[in-house]
Amino acid sequence: MAIVRESGERATMAKTLLLVVPVSWAGLWTAPLTEIAPDLDVRVHGRDEFDPQSIDYALTFRPPPGFLKTLPNLKAVFSLGAGVDGILADPDYPRHVPLVRFVDRTLSSEMAQYCVLHVLMHHRMQRFFDRAQAERKWRQALLPKRAAQTRVGILGLGEIGTLAAERLRDIGFAVAGWSHARKNVRGVESFAGEAELGAFLSRTDILICLLPLTPDTRGILNAKLFAQLPKDAFVINVARGGHLVEDDLIAAIDSGHLSGATLDVFNTEPLPETSPLWTHPKITVTPHIAAISEPRVAAQYVADRIARVERGEPLDNIVDPARGY
Ligand code: NAP
Repeated sequence: MAIVRESGERATMAKTLLLVVPVSWAGLWTAPLTEIAPDLDVRVHGRDEFDPQSIDYALTFRPPPGFLKTLPNLKAVFSLGAGVDGILADPDYPRHVPLVRFVDRTLSSEMAQYCVLHVLMHHRMQRFFDRAQAERKWRQALLPKRAAQTRVGILGLGEIGTLAAERLRDIGFAVAGWSHARKNVRGVESFAGEAELGAFLSRTDILICLLPLTPDTRGILNAKLFAQLPKDAFVINVARGGHLVEDDLIAAIDSGHLSGATLDVFNTEPLPETSPLWTHPKITVTPHIAAISEPRVAAQYVADRIARVERGEPLDNIVDPARGY
């Protein structure tokens, strides 16, 4: 571990952070970390030498399974993203080490923008008018419904789901959310737990998935769930690809039960060229771009929390590994 000389005679041990990401990405994070926290000794897994005993903190998204447990003195692990499924996919994650996820208002706001955009695209029938334009047809007879007549349902009323619900409510949609515990969000109907999932789905015209990917939620967007939505419902998955059974979605659309879908996340990313999702006329595909963590903001977030740990203060946004989020 490096020794840093402070002004005066006092010497303190520098803290070491290991960045566990593909080496080709590392510069994105090392540059702002070094600038924001010059006393932090930043090492990159796969590029730099390090003594496992010397690592105090890790910053990662999808570490190699079993790797984090080889670092015996970890004080905290920081996730580069809002979701921690890539970290908890490691069955050997050292559960005594606090896992801190990235929570950032700008990131949540961009996610909410994506939801608003795609709800409006569907609600205002934009794809229909795009086709009409391509055919030079003046299709004025078919008008969108009023927002209050369209019921939006959000699976997951957490950091992002709540903000998306508020933005959609403010536009005038009839918004409800489904979560583990009941929520109190002004103007947003709250459904909680398995027992209320059916009632939530049956009142939902546009369903947005903003759940974390956990053992309980993997594959939740499946044929059984789609069957509980009203005919012509529309599905937006912006959470994780693992939530969706892609074949069930295509079958529900092709049978005429669902009217279409917008997908930002996929079981395999990048989405393989052979995937039928690319060319399905009722599916919009975006390449996991709804919101991306900004390295500078994340570096500041991590540096602030390391300082807190070193001062003996409690951490926020800690994930419960048993719950998975
Ligand atoms: P969060 O704050 O942890 O919120 C999760 C919500 O889901 C909570 O309301 C929680 O209920 C609910 N929930 C979890 N498991 C549940 C279950 N089994 N039954 C019912 N409700 C359940 O998560 P977030 O930060 O809003 O993130 C949402 C999702 O967005 C994550 O999957 C994340 O990976 C994804 N994401 C995607 C992108 C992208 O670019 N596409 C970018 C950022 C984030 P309680 O509140 O009652 O516990």
